[in-house]
Amino acid sequence: VMKYFDEKCKGSREIYEESQKYIPGGVQHNLAFNKPFPMCMAKTDGAYLYDQDGNEYIDFLQAGGPTILGSNYPVVREKVIDLLNTCGPVTGLLHESEMLIAKEINKHMPNVEMFRMLGSGTESVMAALRIARIATDHKRIIKIGGAYHGWSDQMVYGLKIPGSRALLESHGIPRGAYKLTDEVRPNDLEMLEKMLKRNRKKGGTAAVIVEPVGPESGTRPVARNYNKGVRELCDKYGALMIFDEVVTGFRVALSGAQGYFDVVPDLTIFGKIVAGGYPAAGGVGGKKEYAQLMAAGLATGKHRAYVGGTLAANPLSCLAGYTAIQEIERTNACEVAGKMGDRLCDGLKDLLEKYALPYVAYNQGSIVHLECTGAMSFDFSSMCFVKSALGLLKHKDMMYVRKDSMEKMGAAYMANGIVTLAGSRLYTSLADTPEIIDEAL
Ligand code: PMP
Repeated sequence: VMKYFDEKCKGSREIYEESQKYIPGGVQHNLAFNKPFPMCMAKTDGAYLYDQDGNEYIDFLQAGGPTILGSNYPVVREKVIDLLNTCGPVTGLLHESEMLIAKEINKHMPNVEMFRMLGSGTESVMAALRIARIATDHKRIIKIGGAYHGWSDQMVYGLKIPGSRALLESHGIPRGAYKLTDEVRPNDLEMLEKMLKRNRKKGGTAAVIVEPVGPESGTRPVARNYNKGVRELCDKYGALMIFDEVVTGFRVALSGAQGYFDVVPDLTIFGKIVAGGYPAAGGVGGKKEYAQLMAAGLATGKHRAYVGGTLAANPLSCLAGYTAIQEIERTNACEVAGKMGDRLCDGLKDLLEKYALPYVAYNQGSIVHLECTGAMSFDFSSMCFVKSALGLLKHKDMMYVRKDSMEKMGAAYMANGIVTLAGSRLYTSLADTPEIIDEAL
């Protein structure tokens, strides 16, 4: 593996060495941590990426999820170029594409009666929490252990970079910022109800926020009736239910995870695919009575959630997102990518069995997971508490083993021409074909 990087990736190495002088950690996204050094990509084409030295890779990272149509999808690109030629990227005033994307989302997710485009998933979650507090007059927020909802002060509570030893919460965030955030074990409705009950005397629960396929994009898969159970408990205790569909929206299905699970949340968070692979990918929407609380310019009473941003809802992101959603519908991209995910996962399972490798593979359609089980075994009901297969390792050491395994796997994939998300997650897309999947296997 090291030989590959030494011999074939000199261009990436040189750029990384220079970038370390000017960029903290040498990369602009902290999670682009692939070892032994980050690959610098120079060209893309559908299912493939090409690095600085011209090496070809099958792209199972998909920028972390946004490019379900494949990299640099031509129909979206052409629309964006037309827009740039006529209007440019931003005016600060209303553009038709803002209305078009909101209407398009409503067509596929009728429960999202109104939609506000924002700059990222992180800030869309922040907006939703504000709305939930105003709507319920309650204070507390409940999240699920291990779930990722962006890096805002309130939401990094309990968050660990996958495999790291440290809790992020302890660095640079005053306790007061997350003191109203509670965390419960994944798939544990009993614990959730206890927390909701306890919170009644502590200011009430404004919202329960979930990743509908389970924490960390389904790395800890959700139990069959969990989402429905959360819905019922939210109704019982007067809390809003927030679905964080940053990853699942327009991927699991056009109707999102809410369509797939047939559960109606009060608020939905969007990101990634919502801007068709272009920047400023975020948004929050839901029932009119809640979403309208963001109408800062209107007289909606004294309770309003101010949200916005100079480049929020720029025409470019809105048009790219609108076009991408239409193309996902036209091409049946969720089903096609889902089938490729099944093929990849089935093939991985066969290989793991054939070579008796200490890994487990599972998928939710186009989201494929490959986790190390050698030094640790996953307790799927509560993977925030990882058990050792040998009973020898402490939790923090096992988290380190996971990180080590992910880094090694990630580097090995890369050296064999496959880019993944941190060595443990593989996204498939419309651009994948059975031949590409088989080549990867
Ligand atoms: N929620 C989930 C479920 C996510 O996966 C992410 C990003 N990976 C976010 C929120 C944050 O979105 P962003 O990176 O756009 O801030």
